[in-house]
Amino acid sequence: MANRRPVIAGNWKMFKTVNEATDYAVRFIEEVKDVTELDIILCAPFTALYPLKNELEESIVHLGAQNMAWADQGAFTGEISAQMLLDVACTYVILGHSERREMFGETDEEINKKARKALAVGLTPIVCCGENLNVREEGKAVERVQGQVTRALVGLSVEDLSKIIVAYEPIWAIGTGKTASSKDAQEMCASIRATLTGLMGLAAEKVPILYGGSVKADNIAELLTEPDVDGALVGGASLDPISFGKLILNANPLVARVEGI
Ligand code: PEP
Repeated sequence: MANRRPVIAGNWKMFKTVNEATDYAVRFIEEVKDVTELDIILCAPFTALYPLKNELEESIVHLGAQNMAWADQGAFTGEISAQMLLDVACTYVILGHSERREMFGETDEEINKKARKALAVGLTPIVCCGENLNVREEGKAVERVQGQVTRALVGLSVEDLSKIIVAYEPIWAIGTGKTASSKDAQEMCASIRATLTGLMGLAAEKVPILYGGSVKADNIAELLTEPDVDGALVGGASLDPISFGKLILNANPLVARVEGI
């Protein structure tokens, strides 16, 4: 994390009813109310977004969705548009999560269309990339991730690229308890930054690149010591408001300094 403001985003995946989400919000806001040094995002299921809009309104916590359609509106049964997300005060949207790619066949080309749409309406896309274990063992992880990033972002202007967040999430580390070592995370985040530099020049220095994959309260501080790791996308460990709050306090550089972490 060089001079970029860190970002910690929780991805609730397909968890939490409306009641559970609003209870969470009340407790979580209390946990993180003194955090000043980083941006906090909760990416909730679609049904929880509207109630969370009301709960989070006066707080420092930003609201995000986990997916959206590339189309504006129309006969797209089951889809949610960028405009609908704006309507419930979302400011971020996760795009191309590996679960969407692997289980629902989402392609880099679709992610590119979604990223363009998100940026056109003023949503910040959190564009995910990451290799599976086979690809890593074949020594092709960097090539795979750089290809994903290039295809997902092709054709975007430097101005638009300056508004995105990239999340590197090795599939073998998601929900498995296996975190990439902070050195592995740094190596890949640096290679993503090199790819971004190829697309947008020096402005790539400003783009937050997050790591995701079994991040917890006890490994976040070490990950953030790496120069190109600017935060985390957190799945399982974001589901409990108290322990996610602790993770965030451990990531908050001021708190970390005070506590000597
Ligand atoms: C994720 O779903 O984006 C994720 C990183 O999950 P977990 O933290 O549970 O590995």
